[in-house]
Amino acid sequence: MLPDNYFIASQFSMLSKLMDIHGDNSFKSKSYSIAAFNIEKLPVQLSDLDASEVYTQKGIGDSLGKKILEIISKGYLPALKEYIDKTPPGILEMLSIKGLGPKKIATIWKEMEIESPGELLYACNENRLARFKGFGEKTQQSIQEAIAFYQKSLGSHLYAEVHSYASQMHSVLNNAFKEEKFEQTGAFKRQLPVIDSLDWVTTVKLTRLQEFFKEHQYEEEDINSGSAAFRSPEKILLKFYSRPEAIFYNTLVETSCSEEFLKGLNLRSTPETPIASSEENLFELIGLPFIPAFLREKAETIKAAPALSKRRIIEPSDIRGIIHSHSTWSDGSNTLEEMAKACIEKGYEYLVISDHSKAAAYANGLTEDRIRQQHVQIDELNKKYAPFRIFKSIESDILGDGSLDYSDDLLSIFDLVIASVHSNLKMQQEKAMSRLHAAIANPYTTILGHMTGRLLLSRPGYPIDHKEIIDACAEHQVVVEINANPRRLDMDWSWINYALEKKVLLSIDPDAHEISEFDNCRYGVLVAQKGGLTKISNLSSFSRDELIAFLAKNKVAKKLT
Ligand SMILES: [Zn+2]
Ligand SMILES: [Zn+2]
Repeated sequence: MLPDNYFIASQFSMLSKLMDIHGDNSFKSKSYSIAAFNIEKLPVQLSDLDASEVYTQKGIGDSLGKKILEIISKGYLPALKEYIDKTPPGILEMLSIKGLGPKKIATIWKEMEIESPGELLYACNENRLARFKGFGEKTQQSIQEAIAFYQKSLGSHLYAEVHSYASQMHSVLNNAFKEEKFEQTGAFKRQLPVIDSLDWVTTVKLTRLQEFFKEHQYEEEDINSGSAAFRSPEKILLKFYSRPEAIFYNTLVETSCSEEFLKGLNLRSTPETPIASSEENLFELIGLPFIPAFLREKAETIKAAPALSKRRIIEPSDIRGIIHSHSTWSDGSNTLEEMAKACIEKGYEYLVISDHSKAAAYANGLTEDRIRQQHVQIDELNKKYAPFRIFKSIESDILGDGSLDYSDDLLSIFDLVIASVHSNLKMQQEKAMSRLHAAIANPYTTILGHMTGRLLLSRPGYPIDHKEIIDACAEHQVVVEINANPRRLDMDWSWINYALEKKVLLSIDPDAHEISEFDNCRYGVLVAQKGGLTKISNLSSFSRDELIAFLAKNKVAKKLT
């Protein structure tokens, strides 16, 4: 089929937008956008015309006519393809977000160095956009909402974004079908950080579910003999495995395992699969200690089950202090005192305040003078709120050459230093490794912050060799952060086990930019459980006095005192 006017117009309109984003000839780009407008209004289809007739249409001259003929013969506009090829895919994606025009996208890309909707959302959440010309707080908020909507429509969700929906839906279902059974299963039950669908095992017949969801205006996506899927108006996919009561728990275990784990369990090895009366009972019947769903990932866990079952795995209530937080001194939304008071109210024993360092100018990073002023305030607050304690820290940028952001003299006045990469994230593995190695070997580094810089669903981390980095942390006695921001969850849970083997201490840190984000700790704990973390290997589970003792010992080990 030949391209219609609508398609031809869209090619010119896109070309015009991309030229604007790249800051190219604004006169030309304007003429393409006018052309797009005119072409859509033409009374005849351009592809029905002879070449010569194309040039005679209103508003179409030589150069435009030539381009139109290219579109008709090739199916695309080569000039546009050139622009597409030199534009990061995330920037192209931004064009689908309501309220983001080429001008704003150009600023976002060139000045803020942001290349995807996910990164942009993160920057909004950290209040970074409002500092740029043309981006007030209102604009920032509307961009935030538009991106959130856009991402939802793509079908994948952060665990944190769906968990309250999931529990609401669970009680709605239990209420609607009082005599029946529902249990959540799948990725959600395994506490994975990214969720593509919310799954349930149920005794309800599929036809009844069909009726129910039709009534609630859910789209039916798929239905077969044993399962059905529906999409909510919020674009969340719900999946149901409908089973008779007798095999309910067998199905629950089967559907809550990763493929690898399920193979390892070998449930169907016997001709008669034993029928279980509960999840625990099924493990009993196959002669294994109970393995909670969050650990049903790797097959090797099955062999380790006897040892694992004796381990008391970390729980949300095991977090005793807030490590890694930002106040209004840099890019946080609450004052230091507000944060301290909120910690006390929530029962935490301490707050490690780690505002951004001076290289992070976009985040109002702290100059040497301001660090000293902040320390005066911390001393005052510590007197006022004793025995609660604010620890003096900084989230120091790891600079391009791997050095930290301040002189050794200045670094030595902190109780602890979190070292993180925030700039030049697009780098090859070799470069990333050399920056991280240098930062880890720096005796002032206490904690390595968000190891790969990933933002889930929006930005892959820079490539690293996890084992080598963990080994280096073991050698230099550096704590590895499990950044609990639900969009980061970095270092990934799958490396926790290796870190524990190497006797590396981990730290579940909320990276809170406001008081409400203290609660991020919960998401950190959920993924830490997947790695089998215990509280004795988690720094933020240390009591205040234990932390003080640890920091002193750590400084001695690093020959700093
Ligand atoms: Zn950071
Ligand atoms: Zn931070």
